Amino acid sequence: MNILVINAGSSSLKYQLLNPETEELLAKGLCERIGIDGKFTYKPQIEGKEKLDAVDIAMPTHAEAIKTVLNTLVDPKNGVIASMKEIDAVGHRVVHGGEKFAHSVLITDDVMKAIEECIPLAPLHNPANITGIKACQEVMPGVPMVAVFDTAFHQTMPPRAFTYAIPYEYYTQDGIRRYGFHGTSHSYVSKRAAEILDLPIEVLKIVTCHLGNGSSVDAIAGGKSIETSMGFTPLDGLPMGTRCGSIDVSIIEYLMENHNMTIDEVMNILNKKSGMLGVSGVSSDFRDLEKAADEGNERAKLAIDMFCYKTHKRIGSAAAAMNGIDVLIFTAGVGENSPELREKIASGLDFMGVKIDHTRNMVRGKEAIVSTDDSRVKILVIPTNEELVIAQDTASIASGK
Ligand code: AMP
Repeated sequence: MNILVINAGSSSLKYQLLNPETEELLAKGLCERIGIDGKFTYKPQIEGKEKLDAVDIAMPTHAEAIKTVLNTLVDPKNGVIASMKEIDAVGHRVVHGGEKFAHSVLITDDVMKAIEECIPLAPLHNPANITGIKACQEVMPGVPMVAVFDTAFHQTMPPRAFTYAIPYEYYTQDGIRRYGFHGTSHSYVSKRAAEILDLPIEVLKIVTCHLGNGSSVDAIAGGKSIETSMGFTPLDGLPMGTRCGSIDVSIIEYLMENHNMTIDEVMNILNKKSGMLGVSGVSSDFRDLEKAADEGNERAKLAIDMFCYKTHKRIGSAAAAMNGIDVLIFTAGVGENSPELREKIASGLDFMGVKIDHTRNMVRGKEAIVSTDDSRVKILVIPTNEELVIAQDTASIASGK
C-alpha cells in the first residue's frame, strides 16, 4: 500500500510517498512559489533515480503543483511507481481541527465544511490545507483522502488544562481555549518510546519536548495528552525561532500605545521577529546561534540560555501536571541534533530523577537512550516522523480498519 502525504502551505506543498506497512519512503519533495513562478524539488529514495533540486516548473495553482508531483512520481525514467493506480490514498496534514476532531478522518463534504469552520482559529494555515485537499480531489478523483490534525492528539486535555481565565462565554461562543499543536509528533515519539523501552504506554508518564523552529512540551499520561505548552495558537508556550512564546499580554497594548503600532504590526513582531531571532539579533536558526555563542556573542548566549531555562521549567511543570515522570523525550531539529542543548535543558532536574549521561548523549539524529544507568527517568532521543503517522492513519482509515 502506498500513501501520498501532503502538507500544503499557501504557496508551497511538501509531499512524501511512502508505504506505511514497511515504513519504506519511496520519494519526497517540495513545490515552492506556487502561484508565483514555481520551483520543484524531487528526491527519489530508490537507487539510480535522479533527483531534481529547485528546478523551474510553472505551477500557477496547487492543482498544477499536484499534477507535477504525480507526473514525476510515475515518470518512466526517474519515477518510483508505474502508475497513479499505485497510490492507494492521500493523507493531508491539517493544522486546526478545533474541538470537532479528536482523531483523523476520511474527508467527506461534511468534513470539508467542518475544516472550513475552523478557519477563524487558524487563518494562516487551514485555508492552505483546504486548497491542498481540493487540488488533490480535482487531480485524483475517487482516491480516498484523509485529514490528520495537529490538534487532535491534545483533545484529551481536561477542561482545567485547556480553559483560559477569561469570561467563559469567549470559550462557549468563540472557541477560545488551549488547543495545542505538534500532536502527530508528540503522539509518535511517545508511542515509539514505549516500544523501545518495551513497556505498555498505559502505565507511563511521559514528557515530550518537540524542539525545532516551533517548539512545544507535552505531558502524556497513559498515552493521552493531558497538558501542553502551546495554546489557542502556536504562538503560545516556549520561545521559538521567531515566535515570542508566552508573554504578558499587556505588552501588546504598551507597544501599540508607545510605538504607535497597529495590532497587525505588533502581531507581526511577536510572530516573525521575536523568539531566538529577536533576543539574539543574529538568527532564528539554532545552528547559527550556537556558532555565534561559541564566538562570544553575548546575545546569542542569552537567547540559548533563555530557551533552555524555559524548556527546563516546562518539563517541571509537565511532570507536576502528572504527579511524576518516567520518560523524557527529545525530538525535532534541535531535540534530535543538539547534545549541548539537551544537556543544558536536562541538567538540574536530578531532584526529580532525571540524569543525562554526557557520553551517551553525544548522538545526533538517531534513536538513543541517553540517561545514566542510575537515572530513575529514562531520557530518549527519538527522531520524529510526522509523515509516517499521517500515512499510517490514512492507510487504516482508507482501508476501513
Ligand atoms: P525543525 O523545525 O524541527 O526542522 O528544526 C529546525 C531547527 O533545528 C533549526 O533551528 C536548526 O538550526 C535546528 N538544528 C538542526 N540541526 C541542528 C544541529 N545539528 N544542531 C543544532 N540545531 C540544529
